[in-house]
Amino acid sequence: MLPYRSAWTCFSLALVYVWTVIDSARLSLPEFAPGSVWLVGAGPGDPGLLSALALHALDHADRVVYDALVDRRILALAHPGAALEYAGKRGGRPSPSQPDISARLIRLAQDGNRVLRLKGGDPCVFGRGGEEALALAAAHIPFRIVPGITAGIGGLAYAGIPVTHRDIASAVTFVTGHERGGTVPEGLDWAAIARGSPVIVLYMALNHLARIATRLIAAGRAPDEPVAIISKATTDAQHVLVTSLEDAAARAAAEHVEAPTIIVIGEVVRLRTALDWFSPPPFPSPQAGEG
Ligand code: SAH
Repeated sequence: MLPYRSAWTCFSLALVYVWTVIDSARLSLPEFAPGSVWLVGAGPGDPGLLSALALHALDHADRVVYDALVDRRILALAHPGAALEYAGKRGGRPSPSQPDISARLIRLAQDGNRVLRLKGGDPCVFGRGGEEALALAAAHIPFRIVPGITAGIGGLAYAGIPVTHRDIASAVTFVTGHERGGTVPEGLDWAAIARGSPVIVLYMALNHLARIATRLIAAGRAPDEPVAIISKATTDAQHVLVTSLEDAAARAAAEHVEAPTIIVIGEVVRLRTALDWFSPPPFPSPQAGEG
């Protein structure tokens, strides 16, 4: 007969197993098949923003190939048997090229692994998920794309800024402020964006903010239009700087705002005054019964 403690451990493990199976069944989660790749969005940082599919993938992956912006708390959720591989910049050395990363994913899948390609935010929003999926399709590797909460939506929510609002903003544009070569994207019609989009959400734009603001103002945006610069959104280190379009770049430099940042331009920024739910209150809230 099993000693009492071993029996209890077996019972607990069985219970956990049954719960997992029931949860997977209730959520209709698909099998993560050996030899396949899941391109998964990990969201902007807060592990609570992971999808059930992302958690399922972390639980079953043999290999996790992750990028620089994936929060360490999320990597810690990977199955203990999974091997983690970093595919971003390290110590100033150049990051692996996109063809190298795609080739690596293909190789790992051909070797029979369940490969989790984990990216910050959403894999297909400025995340090269499309390029990797095309490479997998060309190599006939089965794959799945699991969307994540992009920083341009999750970051705004955690800053108390609605992305749209019926009365003041019926359209939003997500823009990269950084082209392949590291310059401001020249192929973009900045004047059209300035005229047509009441809310502009900029990714990777901190270094080019002065030039972007100049173009938007030249195209008719008000210099005093509100801007929020959200640094390290949804993490404990989140910091939000509210400024104006003409002052944004100088204020960001003066206050040493740290990357990664999401920058939002538009009247919706003013709603933060009423809707900031995330910042810790400056003073501890009064205890019940105090007075
Ligand atoms: N696929 C990602 C974007 C990758 S591009 C997504 O959907 O969110 C990298 C840029 O995303 C950063 O330069 C920054 O502009 C933004 N970003 C990602 N995570 C962020 C975070 N936690 N806080 C602020 N900006 C973030």
